[in-house]
Amino acid sequence: MRLAIISDIHGNLEAFTEVLRDIDASGIDEIFCLGDNVGYGPDPEHVVGIMRERAIPCVMGNHELGIVDPLSLDWFNPVARRSLVLTGRLISAETLEYMRGLNTFMVKEGCLFVHGAPPASISTYLFELTHSQLFQLARTMQQDLCFVGHTHDLGYIRLDEEESSPMVLSEGIFPLAADCKYIVNVGSVGQPRDGDNRAKYVVWDTTAGTIEVKFVRYDIATTVEKILRLGLPSVNARRLW
Ligand code: ZN
Repeated sequence: MRLAIISDIHGNLEAFTEVLRDIDASGIDEIFCLGDNVGYGPDPEHVVGIMRERAIPCVMGNHELGIVDPLSLDWFNPVARRSLVLTGRLISAETLEYMRGLNTFMVKEGCLFVHGAPPASISTYLFELTHSQLFQLARTMQQDLCFVGHTHDLGYIRLDEEESSPMVLSEGIFPLAADCKYIVNVGSVGQPRDGDNRAKYVVWDTTAGTIEVKFVRYDIATTVEKILRLGLPSVNARRLW
């Protein structure tokens, strides 16, 4: 089976649409999403609409949490907070209800999906975990593979009894070793922060035991124009270039 894993679309309809086009042309059996469908970008309602229409299984991100639980807004930096307050005005009651229903993690195909870090953290950044916390995860994580988003940086950590090795991922295919556990960060569709302005997602081939990293070009100018027109923080637009 070939499964596409996407994350951190952040209301970027142009990036999401191009990624879906790429997925639809790549013989993918199912799509899974790691949350943060909204925040920063101009099209939260439309992005969630497509997500629901295509019935893409999705977990909750910290930006969904910021919308459904306003008390959690304190956790965000001023730019993200301002974006979320505006995002709240751009979504319908149905979208809000949909977000409330998202779980903090899901297990599919024997694999764990979570926004921040295993086993079920929405807000922990992978880089915050110490060596000993990673060893603990290697011992307790029931699945051999976990996909996360949240940092907007592609990479993976291989967990075994002796070491945990964080690695950066770039475009291409890499094999998963059979005797190791992995946490794979799939990067961001709609708000990349890795110095390359293309949308990112990964394809997990469960039969071949490989992860393929995909970079997709999209119409950045249109997204930027919408962000500025709506009065979202201009840094949200600048970041996309
Ligand atoms: Zn995010």
